[in-house]
Amino acid sequence: MASLSLEHINKTYPNGFEAVKDFNLEIEDKEFIIFVGPSGCGKSTTLRMIAGLEEISGGTLKIGDKVMNDVEPKDRDIAMVFQNYALYPHMTVYDNMAFGLKLRKVPKDQIDKQVREAARILDLEKLLDRKPKALSGGQRQRVAMGRAIVRNPKVFLMDEPLSNLDAKLRVQMRIEISKIHQRLGATIIYVTHDQTEAMTLGTRIVVMKDGVVQQVDTPQNLYQKP
Ligand code: ADP
Ligand code: ADP
Repeated sequence: MASLSLEHINKTYPNGFEAVKDFNLEIEDKEFIIFVGPSGCGKSTTLRMIAGLEEISGGTLKIGDKVMNDVEPKDRDIAMVFQNYALYPHMTVYDNMAFGLKLRKVPKDQIDKQVREAARILDLEKLLDRKPKALSGGQRQRVAMGRAIVRNPKVFLMDEPLSNLDAKLRVQMRIEISKIHQRLGATIIYVTHDQTEAMTLGTRIVVMKDGVVQQVDTPQNLYQKP
């Protein structure tokens, strides 16, 4: 069974702009799907609809065979990692990672177990008491991922998660993300402008233009030399 299906998904913004037109995709369990395409082609809009942060104008979004269109973001088995980290500045690393679980009323000892496990996976164990301003860019990005990982979601959405990092850190984090994907056995949908990221991480690449899916293929087929 597909882990996630997008069937004839459309998005028309309130101003009448059609940002996504008839998007169709079946994503299998544990796939690493890459969205590429020029700025403004609808990549973020599609991710936000999957996350439930943006209303779907038409079509059906399913996880397994369950229709998700009207399910609250917090009740979707989906976590999103943003480009700008979106950490709470006044909270420690621990509390940043625990926040989403507290919101869902997970018991405290269970929260503690999950936060510490995520911290171990992301090598954040020694930083749990720090505030975000006392972290490097790469550490902050790992905390942002930690916030997603603690929930152990079935699907991760990542919107250019490495674009604010310097070149060296990007390479390190790309390797990290690949390991995380394998360790967690999760499905990932990942937006990037970076062809190396697309080629090395992706199981399939979705090419978008003007709100329309142009092509879906493996990195090998898409980027092979003619
Ligand atoms: P991408 O992530 O590929 O850069 P987006 O999904 O952010 O593209 O945006 C797709 C298109 O929708 C863009 O033309 C953008 O300006 C437009 N758009 C995004 N958000 C809104 C909004 N709230 N209202 C109207 N148009 C929007
Ligand atoms: P990104 O480059 O990460 O896709 P944008 O800078 O396009 O983000 O958009 C930032 C925010 O502005 C988003 O929340 C998006 O919904 C909103 N936005 C983008 N384009 C428009 C638009 N044409 N009208 C209204 N809101 C927009």
